[in-house]
Amino acid sequence: MRIPPFTTEVETKILKEEIMQEIERVIDSGKFIMGPDVKAFEEEVSEYLGVKHAIGVNSGTDALVISLLAAGIGEGDEVITTSFTFFATAEAISQVGATPVFVDIEEDTYNLNVSLIEEKITQKTKAIIPVHLYGQAADMDPIMDLASKYNLKVIEDVAQAFGSLYKERQVGTIGDAGCYSFFPTKNLGAYGDGGLITTNDDEIAEKAKMLRVHGAKKKYHNEILGFNSRLDSIQAAILRVKLRKIDEWNEGRRRVDSYYKKYLGDIDGIILPTERNFTKHVHHQYTTTITKGNRDELQNHLKEKGIGSMVYYPIPVHKLPLYDLDIDLPNTNKLADMVLSLPIYPHMSEEDVKEVAEAIKEYFRY
Ligand SMILES: *Cc1c(COP(=O)(O)O)cnc(C)c1O
Repeated sequence: MRIPPFTTEVETKILKEEIMQEIERVIDSGKFIMGPDVKAFEEEVSEYLGVKHAIGVNSGTDALVISLLAAGIGEGDEVITTSFTFFATAEAISQVGATPVFVDIEEDTYNLNVSLIEEKITQKTKAIIPVHLYGQAADMDPIMDLASKYNLKVIEDVAQAFGSLYKERQVGTIGDAGCYSFFPTKNLGAYGDGGLITTNDDEIAEKAKMLRVHGAKKKYHNEILGFNSRLDSIQAAILRVKLRKIDEWNEGRRRVDSYYKKYLGDIDGIILPTERNFTKHVHHQYTTTITKGNRDELQNHLKEKGIGSMVYYPIPVHKLPLYDLDIDLPNTNKLADMVLSLPIYPHMSEEDVKEVAEAIKEYFRY
């Protein structure tokens, strides 16, 4: 493939030597689990984000599950979220015994339509999980207002939006907890699995720290049912190196957005990402809406030209077998057949963006 949907090739070239040294340092230290690198990463990332607690865990999915439990969400509770997301968002809700209640999205940002939340709130509603999808913040102020009006917890799914801002504040630091993923393709990615919980709430922090190590505050003094969900030291050491690059690389993604807007901005048939003025979009994915021809046909056309693209996500969560709900979510249902994510990575060149744009124009016969 000439232009893949995502690649770490350039970043590896830039960082490989430094990262190899860090890995060697961890190996020589003999401290592979938790240990000084995890602690240092947690301190550095909480400082970067401006949040009181940062708790490294095994994955973004575990961050969601542990945050929900730490916030007291469980059996019989309802949690309002979006169906236009990766399965893990809803899966975490179901894992703790609660029920996801799906709300439709905005057509232009693909994020939760906050004006539709209140009508879904019942006696059983205990939390809202906004997903900052593709790198853009959901509209947090009205969500926090509803949460205080109805006494709900807000758990932010920040898996796709490390470094994204909502009104000058880091996403993931506004609700009761923020859940990040360091899966290698995320905009802050490790070289393996990893995740993070952020919170300003001391109680949630303490409970989350217990849950990640078998429900114990002190080793072998296990108090509650927990998990083995630690961030490992090698991943933490790699993340410390990459954290120092995140601003520059998120800017790189924004630069790629400006190239796409330059070459495809005026084209009928493809709607490029909309950026709300309250957010700083970090373009974890470059998701467009195809309004002419056929999305799958365009994807095949690009593939024939050696250009990769992805569909995030072809089936809305509520239609997957675990839920199989026949509910009226017009934008969610419609956009699942129309979205196409174009190649994006921090070091993608203008020339490559131009090539993608030319291939798209060719499909539309411009
Ligand atoms: C990737 C992702 C997750 C899960 O993160 P993992 O680290 O893969 O467990 C959760 N929610 C969203 C929106 C994601 O994109």
